[in-house]
Amino acid sequence: MADETVSALVRDATARLTASGACSPRLDAELLLAHVLRIDRTGVIAHPDVPVGPGQKAQYEAAVTRREAGEPVAYIRGFREFHGLALATDARALIPRPETELLVDAAIDEVSARLTAAPRSPSAPALRVADVGTGSGAIALALLAALRARRMAEQVMVVATDASAAALDLARENAVGHGLADRTVFVEADLLPPVVDPPYEVLCANLPYVATAQIDGLARELAFEPRGALDGGPDGLDVVRRLLDRLPGALAADGVALLEIGADQGETVVEAVANRLPGWHCSVQPDLAGLPRVARVARAAAGGSTQGAVE
Ligand code: GLN
Repeated sequence: MADETVSALVRDATARLTASGACSPRLDAELLLAHVLRIDRTGVIAHPDVPVGPGQKAQYEAAVTRREAGEPVAYIRGFREFHGLALATDARALIPRPETELLVDAAIDEVSARLTAAPRSPSAPALRVADVGTGSGAIALALLAALRARRMAEQVMVVATDASAAALDLARENAVGHGLADRTVFVEADLLPPVVDPPYEVLCANLPYVATAQIDGLARELAFEPRGALDGGPDGLDVVRRLLDRLPGALAADGVALLEIGADQGETVVEAVANRLPGWHCSVQPDLAGLPRVARVARAAAGGSTQGAVE
């Protein structure tokens, strides 16, 4: 068979992926060809006339066939960019989402403000951060990588938990890959270990928050991801409520929890905090699209914004 060019392969794959119902068929076709050719997507776009040999063409066919069946591009490539890091991704954990970068930014601001106000000397205990339901390790590692760039990572220890031992294996691989394993402790737990001692100053969590009934109606790619990382029960907030109930024992007196929530859950979360944690406050930060995205929960004495505000 004659060699085919980059542009011919991308054209054919885009047609196949369009027919299969993929929502960004051309982008997917380009990313997958770049992956097979071990170049980046810009190279695919810049060199349409380059011939592709039969071996790589066969690999590309196999990748496009997986994508046609609905498998996410991140699982086929084996990694996803998140907050400037390339993180290994596979069916052991949820694929990191761009909206979670907002939670990471909030955590970076929170931790660096605390360290700027009260730097930890090398002999003092590190500032304790929890990443509850760490999955691929995305939040813990993006936070630590940003703190490392600010020369603050050595003052922090992140306890990253997950109920899934397989997800923790992936998170550990990512921690090693990014040279951050010495700043992370991985703990298999349903949310948190039974006793948290000493408590955390900053707790981050992107727990499952999709309502059960919505899951099957969402993009078919979701069927490839662990359901336990998405399914939050009838209104999506079962797991978040269980975590709220653990906060009094898990958060330091001036500690703060930063929780990713769904766009329609801002008011429900504020109400849940008011009902379950009297004397605490909850404010909700919108994402770039103006949708509620990160709930900030703390004891009222810890300061922060107006009680119950949806900002
Ligand atoms: N934002 C994700 C989605 O809608 C849900 C992530 C989650 O449940 N934590 O696909």
